[in-house]
Amino acid sequence: MEVRKVVDALAAGGPAPDEELLELVQARDPAVGLYLFEAASRVRRERVGDGVHLRGLIEFSNHCRMDCLYCGLRRSNLALARYRLSPDDIGEAIDAASSIGYRTVVLQSGEDLLYDAELVARLIHRAKGKGLAVTLSLGERDRDELAYWRRQGADRYLLRHETANPELHRQLRPGRSLEGRIAVLRRLKELGYQVGAGFMVGLPGQTPRDLVADLRLLVDLQADMAGIGPFIPHPGTPLAGATGGSLESTLRMVALARLLLPEAMIPATTALGSMDPFGREQGLMAGANVLMPNVTPPSVRPLYQLYPGKICLDEGAAHCRGCTEARIHRIGRNVAAGPGHCPGWERRQGHDPERIGSIHQ
Ligand code: SAH
Ligand code: SF4
Repeated sequence: MEVRKVVDALAAGGPAPDEELLELVQARDPAVGLYLFEAASRVRRERVGDGVHLRGLIEFSNHCRMDCLYCGLRRSNLALARYRLSPDDIGEAIDAASSIGYRTVVLQSGEDLLYDAELVARLIHRAKGKGLAVTLSLGERDRDELAYWRRQGADRYLLRHETANPELHRQLRPGRSLEGRIAVLRRLKELGYQVGAGFMVGLPGQTPRDLVADLRLLVDLQADMAGIGPFIPHPGTPLAGATGGSLESTLRMVALARLLLPEAMIPATTALGSMDPFGREQGLMAGANVLMPNVTPPSVRPLYQLYPGKICLDEGAAHCRGCTEARIHRIGRNVAAGPGHCPGWERRQGHDPERIGSIHQ
């Protein structure tokens, strides 16, 4: 089938056979890319509107027990100075996020078990006390902790599947497996979290078929959120010499994710913004509807070095808010009001009247 017809069929909610997705992932013609971005933008507008949801991101510890080959926080990167924010410091960042108008905080870190069930619960309480929705992104943690945090009020969990190629996954994440990652994602869903999966584009050894599998997995999981960003090689990792992902191919994956999951929350990631001064705007124009401005204290921001060249290292939280809003308005969009829960999740809750009280705080 002609590739534009494939895009039209996807945009109309038709089936998406792997071979057709593969054609789109591989198409070299920039005009095909533009056609895809326009279709994704249209679907985004029709299904979730022009609002961009803001999530205040707090990167509270760069300690990690894991050794992911792609990541600057991996435990073998001895050149990196490590930090842990105290509960009070994190509390202050939560308060700052609330006072500059964010309705969600994202608490993210390496896999740092020092932040145990109780400590994280206290942070959840602090944020809920301010009326904020809480997203956790703490890696693969115990089932009991995940269940406890959900009971304590955590709303969402971000855990990218990273790559849906099982061999590549095993190589890049020593000691872990794709199967195990998917099991945690399914568990999070059972626990009633709004669940974010996602992947990096341009990992060494990743093929176009792998990217189709990444998209397929997002659909199979019925991900509420899909975080898709370029892989950016970090000099302190074994993948220092790799090429990394391109802006164009990442934008295509964002657009395809929008067509396949029309109501999902899809961020224009910081990594996209780090590749190009207008990377995030381009993400928003290719189907994304979420931005995650940084509210980490600027003193430690440079140390949360997943990849090099990260943007917005010096600015205070209030400046980031202003800059983010200006960028949204410049492309004719607006800041979404309300806590910004995921539509699919809200419907799922609707089937369970016991839970509905806790959603509409
Ligand atoms: N430790 C948690 C959360 C922090 S890492 C976890 O791993 O889930 C957050 C995300 O950063 C990861 O999911 C990964 O997709 C991304 N990341 C890590 N290294 C990166 C790199 N070199 N380039 C781009 N993204 C990277
Ligand atoms: Fe740790 Fe997450 Fe980095 Fe892996 S990607 S090394 S789990 S911070």
